[in-house]
Amino acid sequence: DDALVDCRACPRLVAWREQVAREKRAAFRDEEYWGRPVPGFGPADASLLIVGLAPAAHGGNRTGRMFTGDRSGDVLYAALYDAGLASQPTATHIGDGLELFGTRITSPVHCAPPANRPTVVERDTCRHWLEQELDLLSPTLRSVVVLGGFGWQALLPVLSAAGWAIPVPRPKFGHGAHVLLAPTEAREYPLYLFGCYHVSQQNTFTGRLTKEMVTDVLRDAARAASLLPPG
Ligand code: SF4
Repeated sequence: DDALVDCRACPRLVAWREQVAREKRAAFRDEEYWGRPVPGFGPADASLLIVGLAPAAHGGNRTGRMFTGDRSGDVLYAALYDAGLASQPTATHIGDGLELFGTRITSPVHCAPPANRPTVVERDTCRHWLEQELDLLSPTLRSVVVLGGFGWQALLPVLSAAGWAIPVPRPKFGHGAHVLLAPTEAREYPLYLFGCYHVSQQNTFTGRLTKEMVTDVLRDAARAASLLPPG
């Protein structure tokens, strides 16, 4: 995390994250924006990992913490709290007291992209951070919830390269998708992979995704990781 926050490998994203931090949204004009790569949030020995897309310009890029201070985070943290995986249902700023239990949140791209759309090159450039995070988590990691198809596409090759066996044909993303990645010589334990629609306003404001739907997936993933008793 300490090394990540100094990364400047993607010229377009560095320019954008810093421009947003200088110009700010009117509602936050008195705040100091973070304006740097946003590291994963949660304990380093988590057994459940949640993988999103990238930080939001006025959310994580402002507060410096994943999904903190935006509408997507409002839904995600409320669901995590309902599932018993967070100490409180809200996430407003670093120092708000929020704690995650056995759970960590990260993304395949760590800088806020224009229009929430990183390029394929940017995704691939950021990939080594995700690989290192997975490697560090691997002794305790047992399940992963992927929010949205972008994260799913980005994560499968990384999991494969990290030594987990990806079924053939490659499993498709969908809400409620559930895949078991078998252990290999490289990885002693299986990994349970769950798909969940992304908690973006596009999905939650239209009713395509509700907080209860997110909570259900989180509970299933937490049970697979033995964070909750079997339901
Ligand atoms: Fe570095 Fe990733 Fe940000 Fe690119 S997106 S500058 S690789 S942290």
